[in-house]
Amino acid sequence: MAPVNIILLGPPGVGKSTQATLLGKRYPLITLSTGNILRAEVAAETPLGLQAKAAMESGRLVGDDLIIALVRSRLEQLPRDHGFLLDGFPRTAAQAAALDEMLRELHRPLTVVVQPILEHDEVVRRMSSRRECRSCNAPHTVRPEQPLTRCPSCGGELFQRLDDTPEVILKRLAVYEEQTSPLAAYYQKASLLAPVDGHGAPQEVAMRMISTIELQRLQRRTEPAKQVRTINA
Ligand code: AMP
Repeated sequence: MAPVNIILLGPPGVGKSTQATLLGKRYPLITLSTGNILRAEVAAETPLGLQAKAAMESGRLVGDDLIIALVRSRLEQLPRDHGFLLDGFPRTAAQAAALDEMLRELHRPLTVVVQPILEHDEVVRRMSSRRECRSCNAPHTVRPEQPLTRCPSCGGELFQRLDDTPEVILKRLAVYEEQTSPLAAYYQKASLLAPVDGHGAPQEVAMRMISTIELQRLQRRTEPAKQVRTINA
């Protein structure tokens, strides 16, 4: 079967990067997390990192042109026998339109847009208790009764992202509502959107996602996704 090409669409804190790791074990795909790529660029103080830093720290979005060029260059290098999983992209109508065009040029049609669903309070709770590993980027949840300072997977140092502070969390969620959530309707019109219950243990959520992906994959074989050219944000 053709490789699977997935978008994970959902607010920060809904569990996208945890699910990206689990889905990466199930399918031959390359995960492109624009947030992870940008954080590495900021840490290395590259020109891109320097341009992105201020927006990231305040919870705003980095400019569309920068992000679109970044994703394009990564997708162009993707091995033919691998699919892709996009975590954190697209986030605006302009990014979604640019992605459609890129994928048409590259002959890599989307299989499905998986949308994990969680209520707002749970998203805020998860974001406030999450830590990330400096070595392997894996996300972890800390609980007051079980303080973690080292990554259980690789032993690396865990840290709280600067943009996971309460004020920036609220800003990021507001930006999501305003600029990214309209994309759900866009992908719904293209018959690509698949909402999935985001509650429960990561493995449980991953099983739901895999069932959904398999279903969409079968449908895509008989009926290609529709093209949608306008976004009614
Ligand atoms: P994330 O780890 O996906 O929550 O991304 C962290 C930050 O990186 C965001 O709050 C934005 O400032 C920036 N960022 C990541 N992906 C994008 C994108 N597709 N468009 C614009 N900014 C992005």
